[in-house]
Amino acid sequence: MDASIREWLSRPEDFAARFGMDARGVARATAGHPALVNPYFLSLIRSADDPLGRQVVPDPREADDPSGPDPLAEESMSPAPGLVHRYPDRVLLLAETRCAVRCRYCMRKRLAGESAPDPGPALAYIRDNPGVREVILSGGDPLMMETGRLEDLLARLKAIPHVEVLRIHSRVPGALPERISPDLAAMLARFHPLYVNIQFNHPAELTPQAGRACGLLAETGIPLGSQTVLLAGVNDRAETLAALFRGLLALRVRPYYLHHLDRVPGTAHFQVPLSRGLRILEDLRGRLPGIAVPQYMVDLPGGGGKVPVTPRYILGRQGGAWLIRDVDGRVVRVPEDG
Ligand SMILES: *Cc1c(COP(=O)(O)O)cnc(C)c1O
Repeated sequence: MDASIREWLSRPEDFAARFGMDARGVARATAGHPALVNPYFLSLIRSADDPLGRQVVPDPREADDPSGPDPLAEESMSPAPGLVHRYPDRVLLLAETRCAVRCRYCMRKRLAGESAPDPGPALAYIRDNPGVREVILSGGDPLMMETGRLEDLLARLKAIPHVEVLRIHSRVPGALPERISPDLAAMLARFHPLYVNIQFNHPAELTPQAGRACGLLAETGIPLGSQTVLLAGVNDRAETLAALFRGLLALRVRPYYLHHLDRVPGTAHFQVPLSRGLRILEDLRGRLPGIAVPQYMVDLPGGGGKVPVTPRYILGRQGGAWLIRDVDGRVVRVPEDG
């Protein structure tokens, strides 16, 4: 780690100077989405176009891509400020708008720079809806909340009898691992069953520091999962993802979802065609243990929700049998009833 880095980088001119870029191009990109990188993550980046640099360094191409701001129609499924209720049994609570890094492909960049809403109305809605069994804290990044505020929010959720499970979605263990202290882990462990899903996109994020952060959480009995966004030029090769998913298993993090990119403005250059994603997934299925292969998820535009997409193994039916392809491409007949 480069000990000379102490500052969070946010000003366009500082990005331009550090990465040798044209200041006007950087300024155009950050006009649509402010940039932010903390000193730890910055120390892992060698150039603007390495796999970690591409995720967080503003790219002039962002300004050329004006597609709409809320493709998942989250705002239309929001019964209270900061709350998204799309599935009957669980809600997403956008508890914090700050992040450890601002990802250039962020699906919620529309919230960047806003302040987090008062959680009171969201809590009232959850209390009034006994069908809600799980609350997922997201954002922004909930682990960027002050420990006391997060503890208070978890306690208020835990006090609602029908809320059986809590979940936190965060990038902090991999993007700002020093934030995961023994005290924070011990506080979270008081709210079991609590699940933590962590965003990791590239094996270079699996540093000793990130390993220590995941270890602290795992030691308290928190089940850890990962979420990865499939990103062109970052991780769109089977070898890269295989190394990432194997590395995560070694850290006791179970790969959960591989997300197809949500097309918010400024993300066209990150797009991986769905057909290519499916081929990568098929390749992974052949070379990794099942617990290392996440589901490949598409969040359907217009608010249809997330669905898993899988390579086609079922080729059809013939008489009383299914025709199913194995991972090497051979077709096997499987009778309908054993
Ligand atoms: C992704 C998401 C969830 C969680 O979905 P899981 O499949 O349970 O991980 C819940 N609510 C919303 C609105 C979501 O986008």
